[in-house]
Amino acid sequence: MADIAIIGAGVAGLSAAYDLAGSGHNVTVYEVGDKVGGLAAGFKDPDWDWTLEKFYHHWFASDKDLLALAEELKVSHRILFPRPKTSIWDNGNIYQLDSAKSALLLPTVPITARFRFGAVMAFLRVTRQWRRLEKYTAHEWLEKYMGKTVYNKIWKPLLIGKFGKFYEEVNMAWFWARVYSRTPRLGTFRGGFQAFMDVLANAATKRGATIYLHTGIGGIRKEENGKISLQIIDGDKVEYDMVLSTTSPHLLRKLAPQINGEYAEKLENLRHTGAVVVIVALKEQMLEDGTYWLNLPANSPDKSENEFPYVAFVEHTNYMEPKHYGGNHLVYMGDYVPTDHEYFQIDVDELAERFMATLPKFNPKFKKDWIIKHWVVRAPYAQPLPTLNHSANIPDIKTPVDGLYWASMSQVYPWDRGTNYAVEIGRRAAKLMLESQ
Ligand SMILES: Cc1cc2nc3c(=O)[nH]c(=O)nc-3n(C[C@H](O)[C@H](O)[C@H](O)COP(=O)(O)OP(=O)(O)OC[C@H]3O[C@@H](n4cnc5c(N)ncnc54)[C@H](O)[C@@H]3O)c2cc1C
Repeated sequence: MADIAIIGAGVAGLSAAYDLAGSGHNVTVYEVGDKVGGLAAGFKDPDWDWTLEKFYHHWFASDKDLLALAEELKVSHRILFPRPKTSIWDNGNIYQLDSAKSALLLPTVPITARFRFGAVMAFLRVTRQWRRLEKYTAHEWLEKYMGKTVYNKIWKPLLIGKFGKFYEEVNMAWFWARVYSRTPRLGTFRGGFQAFMDVLANAATKRGATIYLHTGIGGIRKEENGKISLQIIDGDKVEYDMVLSTTSPHLLRKLAPQINGEYAEKLENLRHTGAVVVIVALKEQMLEDGTYWLNLPANSPDKSENEFPYVAFVEHTNYMEPKHYGGNHLVYMGDYVPTDHEYFQIDVDELAERFMATLPKFNPKFKKDWIIKHWVVRAPYAQPLPTLNHSANIPDIKTPVDGLYWASMSQVYPWDRGTNYAVEIGRRAAKLMLESQ
């Protein structure tokens, strides 16, 4: 029986803990935060029955690793899969855009461009040749094949929204993966994602894993006795036979300075953006056409030039009913920015005020006294940035430090980050660790 430590109780860490403990090993999970779930964790206001995700989250019907894990945990019956409405904002109007039919009906794009749009999307949904696509930027490929009108109206704002000033660097395989693997039906868990994370954590502890919350790791070191030591922040040094880190690449590099050579260079070269959301609880519904997800136009990486200071308006209670949240209507206003952007520096209330100032645009009846409460959440490591020929940039799960493994969002390429892929890579890491025994 090996002593194994896992750094991080997000989906990847918990999935690995579940499998490793299930194979009879002695597993300890260290989590710096106050709950399990990582980026997919939720919170609950006292009047709510369900938790709400800190960042908007849903599953796709194609999320097979996540759905298989839910089956194993015997909680599939708690997964809901409605088909909410996704739309785009265009000059004060909201247009549904979440199916081939809605694309063909889009009045703001000429009819010939709509057919071309539909044909290219159909191609992307069937091709599996993502390695060919990673040789092109999404910017050049989409403009060429979808045409300038569709690119400028729909895809350029999406790329700018996700990657800001780096939008022309993102490769086409990233875009392909989104079209190929996503479904219009969107899933969630009764009680919220946090309830699922708690089920997974409980299953791992039932198998013998120990999870320590509020316990950060400040250093990882290969010792002369062959063990790997972890320095607990404000705590002891503890030794393990194997360690799995699920942190960001840059944090892993900092924590484990013994990682060197090509692997270290790869860690340093991986890039990502952060995410910020302002969540507002309101007395009334904002998007009365029932839209859940509203993409807002980001025509320039310079936010001051755009109509909105953020890129996604997500009315969660147009997806899950307000009755689960004490009758509150819940809205996220979200954006993706690098950590040196002012959205990471300014006071949370100032950020909330800036975003909330846009609320009257979405409903002319809106009054300030509709606002019950707001929250601001920021995450520095939120969206990996895949550039040209990115498959060559991905470090292996096994690091050059014997016994030290790494599983993160940055390695699930060509898939975009997602809890499904966190389950897959967490379990793949566990399998590799078991095979090394
Ligand atoms: C805005 C946003 C929207 C998203 N939407 C969706 C969605 O709709 N559907 C979906 O499936 N996925 C979505 N995702 C992605 C999903 O949340 C992630 O892919 C997934 O949660 C990653 O899990 P992980 O375990 O790899 O990493 P994380 O969740 O980041 O977990 C890592 C854990 O390590 C802990 N940690 C870090 N450093 C230390 C340390 N030194 N010591 C101890 N612990 C440490 C962290 O606190 C964290 O809990 C979204 C993400 C964001 C940011």
